[in-house]
Amino acid sequence: MFQLNENYLKLPGSYLFSTIAKKVKAYQDENPDKRIIRLGIGDVTQPLAPAIIKALHEAVEEMGHAETFHGYAPDLGYAFLRDTLAADYQAKGCQVEADEIFVSDGAKSDCGNIQEIFAPDSRIAVCDPVYPVYVDSNVMAGRTGDYDEATGTWSNVIYMPCTAENGFVPQLPEETPDLIYLCIPNNPTGTTLTRDQLKVWVDYANQVGAVILYDAAYEAYIAEDDVPHSIYEIPGARTCAIEFRSFSKNAGFTGVRLGFTVVPKDLKSNGVMAHSLWARRHGTKFNGAPYIVQKAAMAVYSEEGKAQLKEQVAYYMRNAKVIYDGLKEVGYEVYGGINAPYIWLKVPESMTSWDFFDYLLTEANVVGTPGSGFGPSGEGYFRLTAFGTYENTVEAIGRIKKLKRS
Ligand SMILES: *Cc1c(COP(=O)(O)O)cnc(C)c1O
Repeated sequence: MFQLNENYLKLPGSYLFSTIAKKVKAYQDENPDKRIIRLGIGDVTQPLAPAIIKALHEAVEEMGHAETFHGYAPDLGYAFLRDTLAADYQAKGCQVEADEIFVSDGAKSDCGNIQEIFAPDSRIAVCDPVYPVYVDSNVMAGRTGDYDEATGTWSNVIYMPCTAENGFVPQLPEETPDLIYLCIPNNPTGTTLTRDQLKVWVDYANQVGAVILYDAAYEAYIAEDDVPHSIYEIPGARTCAIEFRSFSKNAGFTGVRLGFTVVPKDLKSNGVMAHSLWARRHGTKFNGAPYIVQKAAMAVYSEEGKAQLKEQVAYYMRNAKVIYDGLKEVGYEVYGGINAPYIWLKVPESMTSWDFFDYLLTEANVVGTPGSGFGPSGEGYFRLTAFGTYENTVEAIGRIKKLKRS
């Protein structure tokens, strides 16, 4: 009789978003006249920028003619895109070569798959709260030990709490990890590390021989000068870091799908390059991102595209400011929202994250995400996102403010 991969059975149900959906539906059914505003979404809402639409149309047209038709893309990405991405890194002072860039269908796949090229007994370290993909993909691979329902933690995962007490800066762990996942700017907390703070991690990783798996999906939202846009801005990162990038949040590609991963050739274990293994994995299991989509990504780097996307990011960050300032004004402790489209707020002392969820839903008809859904250290916090429309965001914050005043 065949056996399934029983590691999958260890995964606790991901009840977060389904529980939210159920609660919202139940409330709406009982209160059909209420207009609920959702500030819980982690998906963009603005349409694709005109420069991207134009590039998509042109590429679609090419596909309709034998002379310009494209079949399988090169496994690792078209040279036109890899060269452009490398030039962009180099223009920002980062040493990244075109052949160190692997184009894919998105950062989620890459951060989920990267663990495959590391030893099965690798120890992983994650921030708490955390983007669940990092942990769950390692659970599936059998690396995480046993789950403890009571604490919501895995016995073989090193957790680095990120809370208001430490300014959301993860502390170097006492036990030595092999793989360290960092998401900067951070989802869910919306906070970041400065160049100096990230340098501590790069130095540490080089010293103990660990790899930093650096998820920079929100790089485009960085507003402050001392926050690095890439880990390769930090000297020494080429021997210890892999970086994930996505076109989802900077260019609205959540439904179009495209991302890329940088694996520097200097990242080696026992003389073997991680680059060779990732290239082999990509070539074996992935048949390339669509030509049409890679052409659309080129528009992200055109002058026209850059200007349009800057506006799109600014649109969301205006929402972030409305949320941040509005909550602060009525006395909430708020974090994030400056270099990321997420606002992380401290819920009142007497409430849990879920109590606050219910309170906002029933009293203000606003939906957010309970922090405890992202890990034990998220308890007592709540996430609101800036990805809604401006009008809805203003309305939602107006309701929350009124509630607090009354
Ligand atoms: C949205 C997001 C991504 C992007 O994933 P894609 O697969 O490229 O859409 C990656 N990491 C984090 C933390 C995210 O929030």
